[in-house]
Formats: sequence, C-alpha cells, structure tokens
Amino acid sequence: MYNYPGNIHIHSTYSDGSGHIEDIAEAASAAGLNYIIISDHETMAGLPEEGIRHGVITLVGMEINRRHSHYLALDLDQPVESDEEDPQRVIDRVNQMGGFGFIAHPFEKGSPYIEKGKAYPWYNWPVFRFSGLELWNYTSHWRGRDPSALKTLYRFFFNRKAAMDGPSRELIELWDCYTAAGHRVTAIGSSDAHATLYKIGFIKVPVFTYRYIFSTLNTYITLPEKISGDFSTAKKQVTGALRNGNCYLSFDSLYPGRDFYFYAENGKLVTFMGEYLEYEKGINLHLKAPANHALLRLIVNGRVEREVEGQELLHSAVVPGAYRSEVYYKPRFGRARPWIYSNPIYLG
Ligand SMILES: [Zn+2]
Ligand SMILES: [Zn+2]
Repeated sequence: MYNYPGNIHIHSTYSDGSGHIEDIAEAASAAGLNYIIISDHETMAGLPEEGIRHGVITLVGMEINRRHSHYLALDLDQPVESDEEDPQRVIDRVNQMGGFGFIAHPFEKGSPYIEKGKAYPWYNWPVFRFSGLELWNYTSHWRGRDPSALKTLYRFFFNRKAAMDGPSRELIELWDCYTAAGHRVTAIGSSDAHATLYKIGFIKVPVFTYRYIFSTLNTYITLPEKISGDFSTAKKQVTGALRNGNCYLSFDSLYPGRDFYFYAENGKLVTFMGEYLEYEKGINLHLKAPANHALLRLIVNGRVEREVEGQELLHSAVVPGAYRSEVYYKPRFGRARPWIYSNPIYLG
C-alpha cells in the first residue's frame, strides 16, 4: 500500500483566490504534496493548466455555488452550466456528465467577524448519489467554531493547532447514519484555500498562505501501486481513489499522516478503506498510527467498538457493518487531539 498526500478545494485567481495555479502547485510541492485539486467558483477556466507541475499532479474541478449547498464537482471535462437550485439535481447532473462530487462545508457556521456572519451550509437533507462530503474544511472550521474574537486571535497567533478541535459532532453523526444505512459516503479533508489578501496600511498580506495551509488538513489517497509519472495515468489513480473512498484525512500540523494504515483481511483477501468485503467469521481489522503516542478508535456503524492507546490496534470483526477508524495525537503534555479519520471498510 502506498499513501500520497494531497490538498482538495483550492481557489485560484480564476475565482477569488490570490494565487495563480502555477504558484499554487509550487507551494504544494514545497509542502511535499503529491496532488492538488483546484476548484474555483463556477468555472473550470484552469482546466488547460492541468498536468504535473513542480512534480505535483494538478487537477481542476469546480465548486458549484448555489445560494447555499456548495458542491465540489470533480473529474469533468467541461464545467457544469446550469442555474439549477435543487441540490439533488446538481448532484445528478454532475454524475450524468461522468464526474463525481463532494458536498462542501455541509454544516458551515459563519463568524460574526467575517462577512457579517455569512455561511453556506446545506439545508436540503437527505440527498443521495453524491460520492462524499467534506468532513473537515480548514477555512470553514476557522470561521465557524469560536464566537470569541479574542480567543480566535490568540489561537491564530499562538496556538493554531488548538483551534482545530475536530470535525463537528453532528456532521460525523450524519456521515455514520449514511454509511450504517448501507450508503457509501467518502469523507475528505479540505482546505478551501484562498490565500485572501488583507490590507494593512499600504501592504497586502495573506492570512493563510497556500504554502502554510498545505501543511494543515490533507487527504491521503491509498493505492495498491506507486503513483505514475505519466499525467493521464496519475489522474486516473487520484480520481479513482477519491471516487472509491480509498483515502483518509489527516491534520498534518500535528504530525504527518503518511505512515497510517487501516485494512481488513480474511486470510486470503486484503480490503482497503472505501471497499466492500463479504462478512464472515475470521475477518481481522488492522489499524496503525504514524506515531506511537496515539489514541486509536475503531468505530462500527457510528459506535465505538474498541479504543487503545499506543500505535496499533488489531480487532476481529464479530458483526457486519461500516468499520472506520479515528486516531488522536497524544502530545507529551495536554489532551489528545483529533488527527486522522479513515474512510469505512464495508463488511456486509
Ligand atoms: Zn463554498
Ligand atoms: Zn470554496
């Protein structure tokens, strides 16, 4: 198994981001990423710039913006042109065009200090036939979690890690509801990077540079073979893994999530996250954290089945269900922090 980090949901100068795709790819390369996905608002103008840039697989999708209900549409060869307001129809349209998509910032909460509290959550539940959702969106998280300006400023300057206290509980529950009911829903982490420039006197400074944000919340794809140096093959590998849910998200500011694994085996077959294995007796789940000071949790249909401290967890499945894992990073001092969320392995 090979794990490759990437960053999803990035805005460039083709919409309201401050960087050109070339510079964004350079920042991604400096951050050690293998792929990035540009998703500008309502445009795929960056599509001709797809390719391997600075060694980074650079893909272009789009963020379909309705009044609420933003949707990340990927793997399209042309933009979705429609003013459809019904989110289910937007999802179906993307599928018809051969693409797939993720629900963007589903439960976004605004901040009273940014754009007068404006937020863009989803109100239309349930929807179906989408590939997945943004379980944790770095920019939305900063906007929404803390009503205290002083606390937010303190964290921004002195303790950014503490501000990232995990995806929202209600969103995790919604995700578990879908997967426990037999729907395959893939969770991703995303940045929603804009590198927005703020004016301080005569100079303009970005709040979070692309380079910085690419070292925070990333989505790792897991492949059975090495990633290709040929662009069209590599594109298929990245989009295939994201479509299937062969991926996990990691808050890399705590510790890089690369050496993580989670798989099931029955002695004959090995099954990755995102995949299905027929339930029978004798299936073992293997979970390993990239660092040894971790808290590992195995969750079945939304219920915590096992929890151990250390680096590894081995568990024999005794019921069918959607098995996923969470890993918390344990610093020398202080509490364990939300770090890695895997996609489920479906035993049914
Ligand atoms: Zn959005
Ligand atoms: Zn966005």
